[in-house]
Amino acid sequence: MAANTCFTVEQLMEKLSNSGRKYDLEKIKMAGEYAKSLHEGQFRVSGEPYISHPVAVAEIVSDLGLDTNSICAALLHDTVEDCSDKTDLKEIESKFGAETAMLVDGLTKMVTLNIEDKEEAHIENLRKMLLAMSKDIRVIFIKLCDRLHNMRTLAVKADPKRRKTALETMYVYAPLAHRLGMQKIKQELENLCISYLDPIGYAEIKQYIDDKYGQSVGFIENVRGIVDKKLRENNIHFELAGRIKSVYSIYRKMFNQGKSFDEIYDFYAMRIIVDTELECYTALGLIHEMFKSVPGRFKDYISTPKPNMYRSLHTTVIGRDGIPFEVQIRTWEMHHIAEYGICAHWKYKSGEKSKADIDNKLEWISRLIETESNTTDPDEFLEAIKTDIFHDETFVFTPKGDVIALPLGSTVIDFAYAIHSGVGNSMIGAKINGMIVPIERAPVTGDIVEILTSSSSKGPSRDWLNIVKTSEARTKIRSWFKREKRAENIVAGKAMVDAEFKRWSHGYTESQRNDVVAAVGQRIGYMSADDLYNTLGYGGIALSKVAGKFKDEFERTVMVEGEGEQAADITVEQVKTVAPKNIKSNGGIIVDGLEGCLVKFARCCNPLPGDSVIGFITRGHGVSVHKSDCPNVRLGKENPENADRWVEAYWEEKKSGTVDLYEAQISIYVFDRMGIIADISVALSDMKVQLLQINTSKYGSEGAIVNLKISCKNVDHYHSIVSKLKSIEGVNDITRGYAQ
Ligand code: MN
Repeated sequence: MAANTCFTVEQLMEKLSNSGRKYDLEKIKMAGEYAKSLHEGQFRVSGEPYISHPVAVAEIVSDLGLDTNSICAALLHDTVEDCSDKTDLKEIESKFGAETAMLVDGLTKMVTLNIEDKEEAHIENLRKMLLAMSKDIRVIFIKLCDRLHNMRTLAVKADPKRRKTALETMYVYAPLAHRLGMQKIKQELENLCISYLDPIGYAEIKQYIDDKYGQSVGFIENVRGIVDKKLRENNIHFELAGRIKSVYSIYRKMFNQGKSFDEIYDFYAMRIIVDTELECYTALGLIHEMFKSVPGRFKDYISTPKPNMYRSLHTTVIGRDGIPFEVQIRTWEMHHIAEYGICAHWKYKSGEKSKADIDNKLEWISRLIETESNTTDPDEFLEAIKTDIFHDETFVFTPKGDVIALPLGSTVIDFAYAIHSGVGNSMIGAKINGMIVPIERAPVTGDIVEILTSSSSKGPSRDWLNIVKTSEARTKIRSWFKREKRAENIVAGKAMVDAEFKRWSHGYTESQRNDVVAAVGQRIGYMSADDLYNTLGYGGIALSKVAGKFKDEFERTVMVEGEGEQAADITVEQVKTVAPKNIKSNGGIIVDGLEGCLVKFARCCNPLPGDSVIGFITRGHGVSVHKSDCPNVRLGKENPENADRWVEAYWEEKKSGTVDLYEAQISIYVFDRMGIIADISVALSDMKVQLLQINTSKYGSEGAIVNLKISCKNVDHYHSIVSKLKSIEGVNDITRGYAQ
């Protein structure tokens, strides 16, 4: 965002009249002059007339694309507080209408939240702000502009005041801007905070960045040139931007992760802005064609936007001399939303009717705000903001005032587990705003939730698994059962299996049942029948996932005894083989009907021999082979345009004596104890399994996900590796594929 250019009401009026946007200029002028007369004789610490501040705030507000009433409120935002002898809210309402007065009121109330105790103050502030936000979001927009201008001009203030304001901005306002998706304001606030809080560190990093860019002009120009040429050749209309990492983002990485400047992985970043969503994916394909991509770094925020509406494709690739750089690809519309968040919807006029539902959701809000004849009920606006924009999250508070964000509809149990698994596991009841409530109650934004715990609690109940909304709570409850209740789990698992077996109306003995379960368990990576009963019992695997396998095994072993003719049928079914016509194979794969085609394995699911697979004819890159049950296959098949590009594929019959190795992905959910990674790696090397790649991420408060890429022969080999890994202490669960 550009620095302020307006210092006087006249300069602001000139800028607005030249903006080409529709404003009620008379009203704004009146508000400006009224504010000027009220602040007459007041000066800022810098010595400037006080009116320069509200004018500057109004300018930032107009840059965000906000409406006449917001600009008026910005001009008047300090009058009720600072000139109480000359005006009040009533006066403002009679002069400028109810809407402007309501905004000024919201802003005034926030200013008066002058709380002494630091920690509590931030949280109380945030709480009040979230509540104000749910009244009219423009209050928050204007407040952020006010804060941004105060931060830009903070240098003249004395140090203690400067530090306090910068800290408050860091804790409250920057995160708030982030929540609203207003990256531009967020980044400027963060950079300003650091420049005041750690001026030396700030200057150092800024210098590093300048130097590094200075030394790397050749590299950057080279990459830009390559990308530019390729995109042009493919007739993509685009804009390139480099140098997009902020000082603060580098600062945070270095200090939080203890990295040196040279270890910052994604220091170089490039942004490609194109016209359509389709071009985003085309451009991505071209980038991956030109540069080698770094595995695990591709993020598709277009199909899965962040909660703050951010959408883009991110990937990291390796450029010349092995230097990695990040590429972000987005449309102009996504770009505006990334920079201005919710505000973009006031500013941004979508030329073509995009199918994105986000537009439909927000279109009426811009209508609502832009309509000068304000006939819409503000309560309706409030409700819509709450349900449409913050539809995915509820903000609740601990008795101490910490804010916990939960997915909408989360229960008190989810809240307890979000705090700590120890709290959830010893919960005996809960209060919302001081009142005892049932634990399945879902709190709403602004509620204060208190969890009642007892050391004599018997732990969570199995029913909770059906009540909780968050996977975090579910995983923690399951781990508790897994850890504490093996004997009980086995009993519960046996009961589930019995209930399933009884549906098949065929007698069986307990040992037959155990044999069936053991045999199926073996195939899917469990050492014993009890292990599988245990996992079923604590809910680590759904019965529906294995019921089919149980049935097959049951029919093959139990029903077969004494019913020979059924056995024959089943055998025929099982040995039914495919006889592909045009055979040409590659990587052990036969693609039906395509001779001599290039085959590659899809990175999303990494199929292994033994998996049921399917092929997809890519444009110019041969056939990409997925597991039949890969989520991308399911999604891809929904697109009727590509229907004829899906082709049948099979594993080639292996000749004895040859062993091919394939890449396989494993996600291991672990308790984050000392040495667990080492134990995993030792177990792999004991099995002579090559570890190709490893990365870990935190999962909940005491867990971690370890993502591995290993070399593997086939599905059976994979399962034997999994069952070995499962015997390691602290390993909770293992899934195939990479977990994020
Ligand atoms: Mn102010």
